[in-house]
Amino acid sequence: MPPYILMVILFLSLSSAETGILSFVAVQSTLKIGLQNDGLAAIIEFMKDEGRQDDFALSRQQMVKNDLKGRGICDARIVRAMGQIPRELFVPKSYQSQTYSDGPLPIDCGQTISQPYIVALMTQELRVGPDMDVLEIGTGCGYQTAVLSKLARRVYTIERFAELSLSAQAVLEELGIDNVEFRTGDGSCGWPENRTFERIMVTAAMPAVGEPLMNQLAEGGIIIAPVGESSIQRLVAYEKKKDERIAERFICDVRFVRVIGRHGFSES
Ligand code: SAH
Repeated sequence: MPPYILMVILFLSLSSAETGILSFVAVQSTLKIGLQNDGLAAIIEFMKDEGRQDDFALSRQQMVKNDLKGRGICDARIVRAMGQIPRELFVPKSYQSQTYSDGPLPIDCGQTISQPYIVALMTQELRVGPDMDVLEIGTGCGYQTAVLSKLARRVYTIERFAELSLSAQAVLEELGIDNVEFRTGDGSCGWPENRTFERIMVTAAMPAVGEPLMNQLAEGGIIIAPVGESSIQRLVAYEKKKDERIAERFICDVRFVRVIGRHGFSES
């Protein structure tokens, strides 16, 4: 064996720390190359995705222009949020082409995603500020939750069906939304912990807004809820005044699925 080979073997076996470093550097650069490749793949995927979503972007902008701004939704934060949130991710695949149509759509468990205009109207009437905690009764597919998350400090949302809550959680996570707490249970009884909220939104019809929700409303707080026993309900804004008095204001007639629960309707 030529002496220089011997020397190389000797060097390698003696300086295990250095070979450690060498291999670390090698691994690092392999990783780097790997990452670059992954990055490239991600960019290509992203570009493909953007291409695919172009159709949706256009119909989303049309929805914003015609169904929101065109009907008096003037809160720029709501217009921006709904112009950005990909509503198509919240809609079952078979209805995706109708995502931006001017009406509600069916989601799993026999429930519905509300019409975009109604989501915007209820959100506007709720007058959410960036330092407020909002309680939402009826997570559904999570679209309204996502809109609220862009305006509030934190959103607490409760859904009767675990299946809906879990899929809403997955979509919001995919969108990088991290200021939402999810629970499964009977939202007509309020949030399970004893606390108050500056704003409460009920996204299903109640016979009347029961005591638990009124009690969880902070002073000066607002509840927006569809109320009534028939298939058409009254959308109402309740405001808790300083002396605990509740001021009530009718907004418009609406048609919502029912709240099923202790302070809602019975299942049958
Ligand atoms: N904001 C939702 C609307 C979903 S429809 C969206 O944009 O998709 C109303 C939701 O209220 C349904 O998912 C229904 O399962 C839920 N719900 C009905 N009764 C409930 C209760 N007692 N507690 C919590 N959620 C309830």
